[in-house]
Amino acid sequence: MKDLIIIGQGPAGISAALYAVRGGAPVTIIAKDDGALAKADKIENYYGFEGGISARELIAQGKKQAQAIGARLYKDEVCGIEFAESGFTVKTTSGKELNAGAAIIACGISRNVPPIRNIEKFEGSGVSYCAICDGFFFRGKKVAVIGNAAYALSEYRVLKNIIQNVTILTDGLPPLIDFPSYDDRKIESFEGKNSLEEIRFADGSAERYDGVFIACGSAGAFELSKKLGLETKDNKIIVNERMETNIPGIYAAGDCVPGLQQIAKAVFDGMIAGVESLKFLKKHD
Ligand SMILES: Cc1cc2nc3c(=O)[nH]c(=O)nc-3n(C[C@H](O)[C@H](O)[C@H](O)COP(=O)(O)OP(=O)(O)OC[C@H]3O[C@@H](n4cnc5c(N)ncnc54)[C@H](O)[C@@H]3O)c2cc1C
Repeated sequence: MKDLIIIGQGPAGISAALYAVRGGAPVTIIAKDDGALAKADKIENYYGFEGGISARELIAQGKKQAQAIGARLYKDEVCGIEFAESGFTVKTTSGKELNAGAAIIACGISRNVPPIRNIEKFEGSGVSYCAICDGFFFRGKKVAVIGNAAYALSEYRVLKNIIQNVTILTDGLPPLIDFPSYDDRKIESFEGKNSLEEIRFADGSAERYDGVFIACGSAGAFELSKKLGLETKDNKIIVNERMETNIPGIYAAGDCVPGLQQIAKAVFDGMIAGVESLKFLKKHD
């Protein structure tokens, strides 16, 4: 059977792994950190713990439980999912490329859109969230990647293969990794008539740009959805009752899909996604 890749080791990702591994799927979980639960203190509304349980303990037990039955857990940051002959290729900012027959997005909520004036106005007409999807349209033009971490560098590298004039704009933040070069002026607004024509900076300066690629922080569910062409609404991935997205073989679960943002619901979603992705892998074996 082909691999199932799960992005995220929160309650949704771990729950999906428990069901898929026990059903016989080879499962790899890739996660950059412990997600929303790492910010919580004590959990008092989850089944089975009289007096509550510390969120840290719940995370640790979940990870151990998945590993004990054979799920592989990798710490890495996913920067893209692409279609491949075997199904999908999941790419990470450390340069790994993993093949999968199916994937579950269990990335929690995060949409790292910087508060730049007119950003939404130019979405699709100069503002993009996916270098590999839209880079082609900007060949021979001048573009910028906005971000200050590994994800920005990975988008920069994708663009550099096809566009000569690419700049990294850190938007007033210090770079968190080594960039080939960067501009750290704080951005105030995007300007243009029908499409992006100019970036205005907080210091009063302005520069002509034809396109910008937003890559702040890490790629979250929103950015990964844009890359794959997944349907979204209000920044959530649209799934049916089987946790299927509009792309066969790609499932989503937990806080990144509509509904309550709670552990019990993430565990339920993960269970369904695990079971259904397993059926998909068996059918396409
Ligand atoms: C402060 C706080 C208190 C809370 N208290 C409660 C409570 O008492 N009870 C309750 O039921 N719920 C509580 N919640 C909500 C609960 O934590 C979430 O509903 C639950 O964690 C969602 O699970 P998830 O698996 O969907 O996402 P998350 O737990 O957020 O996990 C997301 C995973 O995706 C990974 N990821 C994201 N992007 C990438 C990427 N590009 N590459 C690799 N990995 C990536 C993250 O590293 C993480 O492992 C609380 C949340 C917060 C913030």
